[in-house]
Amino acid sequence: MSYSQRIARVRERMDEAGVDVVLLSVGADLPYLTGYEAMPLERLTMLVLPRRGDAKLVVAQLEAPRVTPQPDFEVVPWSEPGDPIALVASMVGSAKQVAIGDQTWAGFALDLQRALPSAEFRRASRIVGAVRAVKDADEVEALRAAGAAVDTVAADMRARPFAGRTELDVHRELVDRMLELGHQHANFAIVGAADHAASPHHEPGARVIRDGDVVLCDFGGTMDGYCSDITRMFHVGEPSTEVRDTYAVLQDAQEAGVRAAQVGTPCEAVDAAARSIIAGAGFGEQFIHRTGHGIGVEAHEDPYIVAGNTDPLVAGNAFSVEPGIYLAGRFGLRLEDIVVATAAGPERLNHADRGIAVVG
Ligand code: ZN
Ligand code: ZN
Ligand code: ZN
Repeated sequence: MSYSQRIARVRERMDEAGVDVVLLSVGADLPYLTGYEAMPLERLTMLVLPRRGDAKLVVAQLEAPRVTPQPDFEVVPWSEPGDPIALVASMVGSAKQVAIGDQTWAGFALDLQRALPSAEFRRASRIVGAVRAVKDADEVEALRAAGAAVDTVAADMRARPFAGRTELDVHRELVDRMLELGHQHANFAIVGAADHAASPHHEPGARVIRDGDVVLCDFGGTMDGYCSDITRMFHVGEPSTEVRDTYAVLQDAQEAGVRAAQVGTPCEAVDAAARSIIAGAGFGEQFIHRTGHGIGVEAHEDPYIVAGNTDPLVAGNAFSVEPGIYLAGRFGLRLEDIVVATAAGPERLNHADRGIAVVG
């Protein structure tokens, strides 16, 4: 979909939501709509996108040469010292309902609220997030390619030694492999051994992985603008019956979550499908996070697969299904695939072996 088409869809959404103007600064919304990413600096960059009429990209004069002109907006450079807040406020004018990008610096949001006392501010994520959440065929293809790359990393790791290495060492290997396989950025690579795996976002460190350890690896990055995210479990030597049995529950739960991800199903029902199996096995209290998050140009975006999100899945939604069971002080298990909702049913974008890998 072209930038123009994306902007047209944002405007449809503004009509539905009664939003007069969208203001976008740092974060992924601006490049998604214009191809230009704002420098995360104290100098204001802001797209002023009214429901009707011309959009304007307010940008510091010294940044203006970095902007690739597009037919959908006019570049309005401001020179220092200048007053870009007053400039944006004059463009917003008497518009009442203003949606501002969630990641806009609070300082700018506060200044704009002061400069536009009669405007009502809300989050732009309800507008742009809903558009970003529906991927077109090209975007799904990009997610599929990123998923295939991390699948290869996960598969190759099954033949690698773990014992005697630090978590950090395995982390570095995951990062290097993602880059070798076409990712431009590695966004994260969690490696948690034994009790560290019970902390879902454990920061890999100097812990040496030993025989008998369970090792949780959750890694992802960005490839050609779209993100990957996968979790697989490794075990040094044969896992105990307890680990195997607990993992079997988790695998059933993940499968149930994926199967539930049909177009029209509320997001929270996907969460419930996975959660009920874990709860039924007595681990309800040990599943301490939502089942998943949307993924696209950002690693976490709409739709969130969580209780309370009654939005129905639509074809083109891409999201993780990643239940976990965490036994504090002992071990933790998680299994994660990216799934796309399609008219023909849920399609997994990760295919790497989902069984626990027994490693040396
Ligand atoms: Zn996470
Ligand atoms: Zn993950
Ligand atoms: Zn994830």
